[in-house]
Amino acid sequence: METGPDERLELLGAPVDALSCAWIVDRVGQFIESQLRRCFILTLNPEYLYRAQREPELLELAGQADIVTPDGTGIVWACAVAGTPVPERVTGIDLMLGLLAEAARRGWRVYLLGAAPGVADEAAANLQRRFPGLPVCGTWHGYFAPQEAEQVLADIVEKRPQLLFVALGAPRQERWLAENLPRIPAPVVGMGVGGSLDVLAGRVRRAPLWMQKAHIEWLWRLLQEPRRWRRMLVLPKFAWLVMKKYKLGRRLGVRRKRQ
Ligand code: UDP
Repeated sequence: METGPDERLELLGAPVDALSCAWIVDRVGQFIESQLRRCFILTLNPEYLYRAQREPELLELAGQADIVTPDGTGIVWACAVAGTPVPERVTGIDLMLGLLAEAARRGWRVYLLGAAPGVADEAAANLQRRFPGLPVCGTWHGYFAPQEAEQVLADIVEKRPQLLFVALGAPRQERWLAENLPRIPAPVVGMGVGGSLDVLAGRVRRAPLWMQKAHIEWLWRLLQEPRRWRRMLVLPKFAWLVMKKYKLGRRLGVRRKRQ
């Protein structure tokens, strides 16, 4: 899938596509209808990008993705600081819901892989209530043993989904997609969706809309799952890294040039 060079930005070594959610849904639609090849969507959040600074493999995975969305306020802010603003935040769950609404309308087959046993089935049942006619062609939980991995892939190949949502947590889901999407012979769009199946199954509640709009969804997640606090320590470190590279670095550069 082509994304023009003007839309693809670079942030701390990773690509970011400056596309709105509606635009991406539209592109994915064109892709599915034209049955071209496989498409790998990665939703880039600050936690992933910060970790990628020390683990180049994660940057490589992002480089392999056909679409990289700015997932979260932190990435949207960082793009603005870098002087390359993006139109909006595109989270995994919002993009997933946008794609599912289209899937119900156009009859695209959907496969849900990941989360604890039973969660993907509950999510599928809720989604079919929300989007009547949504074709869910298969589900598999995300705690399969290494020796079961081939069976999981065989099931996906057999069910021939057009949309494959993978909820194994980052970066495991991105590794899984990069390794396995090329092994699926039929055209397919694959996307990592983190904890979205838990939300869609109703096991975890998403932040109320006012919190999402106030850009404090992270606070809600912290209150819901206090064990996440350690992971959230990354946010200030990420902000500092961005300031250092795109503000201080630039100022120092200008000062050096003047001397
Ligand atoms: N998960 C899984 N298999 C694993 C580890 C995690 O299916 O071996 C699931 C987990 O149950 C959850 C999701 O992956 O549904 C990850 O959620 P989390 O919120 O940690 O992911 P993030 O949004 O931070 O990527």
